[in-house]
Amino acid sequence: MASSPYTIVVGLEVHVQLLTESKLFCGCSTKFGAPPNTQTCPVCIGMPGVLPVMNRKAFRLALKAAAALHCRIAPFTKWDRKNYYYPDLPKGYQISQYDLPLCREGWLDVPGEDGSADRRIGIIRVHLEEDAGKSLHDEKAGRADSRIDLNRAGTPLLEIVTQPDIRSPAEAKVFLQELKLLLNYLEVSDCNMQEGSLRVDANINLHIPTPSGTVATPIVEVKNMNSFRAVEKALAYEAVRQWETFQETGRKLGEVPKQTRGWDEHAEITRPQRSKEESSDYRYFPEPDLLPITVGEEEIAEVRASLGDLPAELRRSLRQDYGLNAYDADVLVNQGRSTVEYFRRLAAASGDAKAAANWIQQDVLRVLNERQIAITEFPVAPETLGEVLQMVRGGRLDTLKGRQVFAYMLQHGVGPQDAVAALGITEVDDAELQSLCEELLAANPKVVAEVRAGKEKALGSLVGQAKKRNPNVNPARVKQICLERIARM
Ligand code: ZN
Ligand code: MN
Repeated sequence: MASSPYTIVVGLEVHVQLLTESKLFCGCSTKFGAPPNTQTCPVCIGMPGVLPVMNRKAFRLALKAAAALHCRIAPFTKWDRKNYYYPDLPKGYQISQYDLPLCREGWLDVPGEDGSADRRIGIIRVHLEEDAGKSLHDEKAGRADSRIDLNRAGTPLLEIVTQPDIRSPAEAKVFLQELKLLLNYLEVSDCNMQEGSLRVDANINLHIPTPSGTVATPIVEVKNMNSFRAVEKALAYEAVRQWETFQETGRKLGEVPKQTRGWDEHAEITRPQRSKEESSDYRYFPEPDLLPITVGEEEIAEVRASLGDLPAELRRSLRQDYGLNAYDADVLVNQGRSTVEYFRRLAAASGDAKAAANWIQQDVLRVLNERQIAITEFPVAPETLGEVLQMVRGGRLDTLKGRQVFAYMLQHGVGPQDAVAALGITEVDDAELQSLCEELLAANPKVVAEVRAGKEKALGSLVGQAKKRNPNVNPARVKQICLERIARM
């Protein structure tokens, strides 16, 4: 980064669909995938004379997101009409929020690269608005015409606008991942990009130091990115394109107005699109059919109290309270709140947080994946699995046998003691093991000398002999006893 001749400056505009049953201003269903134009009514197809009524649940979800993004929530907020003509917008305007948005001035911390410190990305504003319908261009089906599906018209959207605080394409991707995780935790949105419930536009330009001061290239708004990976690729492409254009045309570039470009997924380039309207072109004015909304301190406090543990705090807690490394904490938190809860209970039951994290990642998650179930449906309670971990920890089982016991429990739905018995695993009495080790050490002075000379590996032959004498011994425990005895010899 230090050697780069420019700084990349990115701000994102994210639209997410809220997880409500019904639309923002009417009772129509928001369910995805229904046949075209089956989820519409006179309100959302824009018949004259009908009146919108605000969906309280949507407003509540927006408040949750705003609180979690550390925003200042406006005590008084109102609706505005954003006027433009497009075939998928039957009313000829979108009900949105213009000068008095639901909230302003928040932030979201995103994990730094390779475990470095978090980076704080500012949020300019968050507001509620309704979605438009969808144009269906079916060239593949041999149709030259376009058709309109209004099922999506009137679906509640949350628009989140960041400060231009993002400094790399990779950071844009990490921000989006973190935002998605947060909104998933809050159950505000599923943020499913394939179904269009999260859409991103990105503003990007370069700040280039020159002998006569910093020059900023014209801001380009990049659209049409269909995955987080596409956002990263499009921004990387756009940074290079702007740098090359700057080198060709020099400072004259500064006079070019803001452009809009679309990401072409197949060609992996951005192409110019029609220029964006200025906000004055939309002729915003207050929506006359809806009352402004007042939000009391009490309601805000209640929403804040209802947020529960959020990803950033959970990561911190897993590292500080449980001593996990950044990677393990990340994997568990990314799995969702229930996995973190399972981990906490398993760590408590086993008395070993690191082992609990390993078992969840290597064993539990694998089974969930194989069976395609959620952790809340996992048949082994953390307290029960904790008993197995205790046995491994206390040396009664080695890790391999612990896994066999776990697999048996899963397959037969029995507890750890029954699994141990059914598998014929006999526990070896520690006193018995002590005398066995004593015997082996006495019979192998060469090994003892090698270990003393620093070659701990030499113990391998003793472990092998011990296993031959009694297949139930725990190799790790044999090693441990031998080392202790050699130290005392
Ligand atoms: Zn409707
Ligand atoms: Mn918008």
